Amino acid sequence: MSLDFVLQPSSHPAPEAERAAILAAPAFGRYFTDHMASAVWTPEAGWHEARVGALEPFSLHPSTAVLHYAQEIFEGLKAYRHADGGVWLFRPEANARRFQRSAARLALPALDEADFLASVEALVKADEAWVPVPTTEESLYLRPFMFAAEAFLGVRPAERCVYSVIASPAGPYFASGVAGVTLWVSSRYTRAAPGGTGDAKCGGNYAASLAAQVEAKENGCDQVLYLDQAGGEGRLEESGTMNLCLVTSSGELLTPGLGTILEGVTRDTVLTLAEKFGLTPVERSISLEELRAGCADGTITEVFAAGTAAVITPIVGLKAAEYDFAVGDGQPGKQTLALREHLLDIQFGRVPDTHGWMRRV
Ligand code: PMP
Repeated sequence: MSLDFVLQPSSHPAPEAERAAILAAPAFGRYFTDHMASAVWTPEAGWHEARVGALEPFSLHPSTAVLHYAQEIFEGLKAYRHADGGVWLFRPEANARRFQRSAARLALPALDEADFLASVEALVKADEAWVPVPTTEESLYLRPFMFAAEAFLGVRPAERCVYSVIASPAGPYFASGVAGVTLWVSSRYTRAAPGGTGDAKCGGNYAASLAAQVEAKENGCDQVLYLDQAGGEGRLEESGTMNLCLVTSSGELLTPGLGTILEGVTRDTVLTLAEKFGLTPVERSISLEELRAGCADGTITEVFAAGTAAVITPIVGLKAAEYDFAVGDGQPGKQTLALREHLLDIQFGRVPDTHGWMRRV
């Protein structure tokens, strides 16, 4: 039986003027809407207590398992306001399926695709007024997540889990946005290993990435480029919150194959759209050496990162302790910007949705 996320309206929604001020300049992940969706799971009752209620803090016993063993997963997707005022989600079914894969890897209970979609839609409906009218690319970022809520210090899958969805109005993710960002090629840290959790969207992956992110910032870079091994050489994996794509002079759109990386919805979208831009999509392993040599001799013409929060972000340079190189002429690539524009056009309903990717709330 599917869950019914019944609305219990908040008794203290943000005053209209406060909401308007937040929507006028949304900062990613800092302000939240009036409501949250939630449900509870136990082995005996399965999923129950589904509802959309006022956004409120959790009260957790200090022994709650997630605080100790990080049994937690999450998702990220956006709601877009179209010119006719309607609100649409982009490929939410893909997020629902990835959430199920992440849950299986973290030994968390499965949530049906229909329940995931119902929870997200119920929250967006309740907080519709929080979906920005876009001036550039503003949208409502949605964050579904699930965690081990049982108060018990034993190391085993929790027998009480909480699922929730919160929402935050979002503007551009990087201050430098389309101007392009620089990646720090980490030689000290990796983010995943075969058999590990690299292909799951679990909090622990991001906790482990923070030291590398600090190193990147200390070296004047915006994000980390992870390789499949420490020591400075190896194969490209992905960036901290984005998948990596390369454009070649022979007309290929190259991206590392799946395995230890997160299977990005934007990555898949870009691979599907490639041919429209005269590019052949190719998924295969790519060595750092191939990237360096290709940027040096011009056979790699553009590099960009793809993810829900950052959309498509040009990568204009890469840096490591021993070297520093530009991609192309150090400016955002033409194909990158064209792909980015087209993706935003689809998401904001400015071109026909020929792939059936948009879902009206
Ligand atoms: N890789 C990582 C590690 C991420 O956190 C994200 C963001 N979810 C992505 C790639 C891009 O995935 P998506 O396009 O589904 O947002």
